Amino acid sequence: MRKVKFYEGSYKDSNKLISQIFSDFSFDFKNKKVFIKPNLLSAHPPEKGITTHPSIIKSICQYLLEKGAIIKVGDNPSLVGSDAFERIGNITQIKEASLGFYTDITKNYKKIKTRIGEISISTDILDCDILISVPKLKTHMLTIFTLAIKNMFGIIVGNQKSQIHYQYPSPIDFSEVLIDIYEIRKPDLTIVDGILAMEGKGPSQGNLRYLNTVVASDNGYLLEWAIIGYLLDKNPLSIPYINIAKRKNLFNENDLIIEGNYKKIKDFKLPNQKINYILNSILGKNLIKIIYHPFRYQKIKIDKNLCKSCLECVKICPNNALKLEGKKIKYNKSLCISCFCCYEVCPYSAIKV
Ligand code: SF4
Ligand code: SF4
Repeated sequence: MRKVKFYEGSYKDSNKLISQIFSDFSFDFKNKKVFIKPNLLSAHPPEKGITTHPSIIKSICQYLLEKGAIIKVGDNPSLVGSDAFERIGNITQIKEASLGFYTDITKNYKKIKTRIGEISISTDILDCDILISVPKLKTHMLTIFTLAIKNMFGIIVGNQKSQIHYQYPSPIDFSEVLIDIYEIRKPDLTIVDGILAMEGKGPSQGNLRYLNTVVASDNGYLLEWAIIGYLLDKNPLSIPYINIAKRKNLFNENDLIIEGNYKKIKDFKLPNQKINYILNSILGKNLIKIIYHPFRYQKIKIDKNLCKSCLECVKICPNNALKLEGKKIKYNKSLCISCFCCYEVCPYSAIKV
């Protein structure tokens, strides 16, 4: 429960990397229900670096198949609509990579009681014997990073994710919810796809950056601590959800054992909300709400030249801040809670922050 291991390689080396990971983190997969949870945020091709790369998922499936596992691969993406499952599977190439195990997990769920009320979680995830989370290494405009913890927000089905954004618009309160969700079903193994990573304005419009790194651990908190603190040379405690998990004693960084090789990245760019988080770590959660609240929420802009009126942003917006008027999308700034869900799902990068 303490080891974090770094691996160097490219997507061409996926089979070798995955075999090595399962030799370092061994499980008895025979006849076990194994669920693989990639980051399938929305319908984007692999070269955009937004979703988990299909070669990693394919190598995991091949390995598990040989070991006699009962495999399922799936996610609850941000994109909604009856064709979302097929579209995302095809465009991200995860459907083909899953070797027939790509599963629609959005229909069957169980309600779990939590601090913030009942949350609907996909049954396939709750009922599996071994859960393998495979996030992408990316920045995130709201939470700064999307890695091991944030990837598990995708275990929630339907539009409840948007409702949670609406109920908890502050990045700090939302970060606390992320920890609640993560604790419902912690993955048995997390494998971070950091070969092609994203910095800056992630999770969908940041700059792509090849780090040629895969990182694995059976402890998601220590894995994030190692990636943020050691690989990316940032202070993990300046990331609200890590800070909250630390205050809740959910991990102890002194237990961390790092193995493998990595090259420290000194200039990895965070989203420009960094100032909020520095103030958060200095001032604490409640003070920052009072002092900084009016300035903290960035607003979006819609580039009318890029917008194709596909309505994905309208469907996902939790507070009806976007609607179609004539042939154009109308944005009501006063209703916007800066959750950036629209920014994440826009397939044409027409929403800017
Ligand atoms: S802004 Fe993007 S998501 Fe919204 S309608 Fe235009 S193209 Fe579609
Ligand atoms: S307009 Fe976009 S950022 Fe604002 S509330 Fe709606 S989805 Fe969130």
